[in-house]
Amino acid sequence: MSNKTLCITEKLYEYMLSVSLREPEVLLELRRETGLDEQANMQIAPEQGQFMALLVRLLGAKKTLDIGVYTGYSSLCIGLALPQNGRVIACDLNRQWTDIAKRYWHKAGVADKIDLRLAPARQTLEELLANKTAAASFDFAFIDADKVNYDIYYEYCLQLVRPGGLIAVDNVLWDGAVADESVDDVDTEAIRALNSKIHADPRVELSLVPIADGLTLARKM
Ligand code: SAM
Ligand code: CA
Repeated sequence: MSNKTLCITEKLYEYMLSVSLREPEVLLELRRETGLDEQANMQIAPEQGQFMALLVRLLGAKKTLDIGVYTGYSSLCIGLALPQNGRVIACDLNRQWTDIAKRYWHKAGVADKIDLRLAPARQTLEELLANKTAAASFDFAFIDADKVNYDIYYEYCLQLVRPGGLIAVDNVLWDGAVADESVDDVDTEAIRALNSKIHADPRVELSLVPIADGLTLARKM
């Protein structure tokens, strides 16, 4: 027994998946196709996708944001968890990756729920906020795009999410680099700075969940 979060071994990880993962076939297929891409490690872990889907359901979310789409796994998890009138505003820059995403969203029957905005995420979030009715109207936001802009995305999300809504920030443990003082590249520094900021931020309640590469949950007060 341990009263600390376990350092999970490969064997225990396999066991955990064997007794908990319920990955729909379409998500498994997307993961297999993405696995052929050099950047496949950018994709969220399947147990994380399942966890986020559970959060979306618990929140009774309808309006959601996915910032950083890649080949569409996180958007698809959210889209599948939403009711028929739910929406994901999905932000990315890359047409090649998001063309793969769109294929799977269609295959899963959720394409109508996912509104892909191919533009810098900052621009999309600014455009959303320009419409006064969008402020404080989103239930859930997932931040998983370029790390140097994480703080900007967090601030926009705090404006877009309703009180009681949730912001999930991915890769907050950054493969352990955040705790290694010898690492000072811009991505690591950006994640470290946001981690410290959220820790002290009275605008949210938080929990850092050590699932996959670390996921901070920040509930807007
Ligand atoms: N959430 C995705 C999933 O479940 O597979 C993984 C997202 S991947 C880690 C990061 C994505 O952010 C890439 O697809 C990249 O094109 C996108 N990205 C990078 N900079 C961006 C920016 N300034 N605006 C929008 N998207 C950006
Ligand atoms: Ca990620």
